[in-house]
Amino acid sequence: MRPSSHHVTRCRCHAAICWALTSANGRRQPVDAEPTTAGNLAVMQGADGVLYVRSVTVARPEIRPGEWQAMPHHATCSNPPPRRSSGPGQRQRSGVRPVPWQGRQS
Ligand SMILES: [Zn+2]
Repeated sequence: MRPSSHHVTRCRCHAAICWALTSANGRRQPVDAEPTTAGNLAVMQGADGVLYVRSVTVARPEIRPGEWQAMPHHATCSNPPPRRSSGPGQRQRSGVRPVPWQGRQS
């Protein structure tokens, strides 16, 4: 199996991805559109037409009919969105020198 073309979109890094909902908590997660046996995810299209993704685990390693194996796009994205923690105007201070280690007598 592989994703239907209408599910495939482009990431900002121009890679072909699909958005899928995690079966664990219903969050949207980008997965690579190209199936790969190296991926640790199993993606399937639900009866509602939505893609669902679950982790392939040791306990459930099999890929079931209708599923395909995919890589999370986080693992391959070459242009990930900036982290919110480093917002604009918050520049990391550099040049803080470690205090020279004194008091050691040899
Ligand atoms: Zn990307």
